[in-house]
Amino acid sequence: MLNDSQNNVDFGYKSVKKTDKQKLVNNVFNSVAQKYDLMNDITSLGIHRRWKNDLIYWLAPQRTQNLADIAGGTGDIAHRFLNAGGNSAHIFDINKEMILEGKKRYGNIKNLDWTISCAEDIPVPDGKFERATMSFGLRNITDRKKALKEIFRILKPGGRFICLEFSHVENDILKKFYDLWSFKIMPLIGDKVTGNKEAYTYLVESIRKFPNQAELSQIFSEVGFSRVKCRNLSNGIVALHSGWKI
Ligand code: SAM
Repeated sequence: MLNDSQNNVDFGYKSVKKTDKQKLVNNVFNSVAQKYDLMNDITSLGIHRRWKNDLIYWLAPQRTQNLADIAGGTGDIAHRFLNAGGNSAHIFDINKEMILEGKKRYGNIKNLDWTISCAEDIPVPDGKFERATMSFGLRNITDRKKALKEIFRILKPGGRFICLEFSHVENDILKKFYDLWSFKIMPLIGDKVTGNKEAYTYLVESIRKFPNQAELSQIFSEVGFSRVKCRNLSNGIVALHSGWKI
């Protein structure tokens, strides 16, 4: 018999049944999808664009490379990958509303595909992609190790994965401002812009519950990634984790 901690996972600061989390996450993104990109610009003061550019800069796409962007949402990473010289990009996301919003922006771009699917069960054969990314997706996923194993599986030998995710701020003074901004201001902006304060309370809480830089590096190694490296951006507000399938 499973005990409570095996049955339950975090949904922000709440502990919920594993079987319920995805539905709750889907509700969040259903309700914010139409304002998702605008909210990213407002709540990060536009800095999420620089973080995404930094991911692509480190990935350094080549004309021979095809990307799987997991939990790709409205397509920011896939679009940047193609602009930076990658061959093709395939977005996988569980949420139809997010994909519909993405298609409004990037729907007519060549070599860009979209599939509704869960990161824990990606509908492609082993070793299909040279590169994989996940940007601000991992903390929303119920079984993160399962998703990371799937990403490892779909990469070709020699393939590389980079994850961009909120992480843990290193400087105490910055942390105080950041906590104030995220716990007090962000939910209020979320309320005004999307009408859903709870969605942004969840997003902020889920960041605080997410493994820190060293813990996520360890998880990468456990699922099989080699040459695991981490780079902090904006003093650890977010971090890039890179791993190779060798
Ligand atoms: N990658 C985009 C970006 O950086 O702007 C979107 C990030 S958004 C914060 C998180 C995305 O994860 C949402 O589009 C959501 O639908 C997706 N997501 C949540 N759970 C998922 C799952 N189990 N499998 C695939 N996508 C998932």
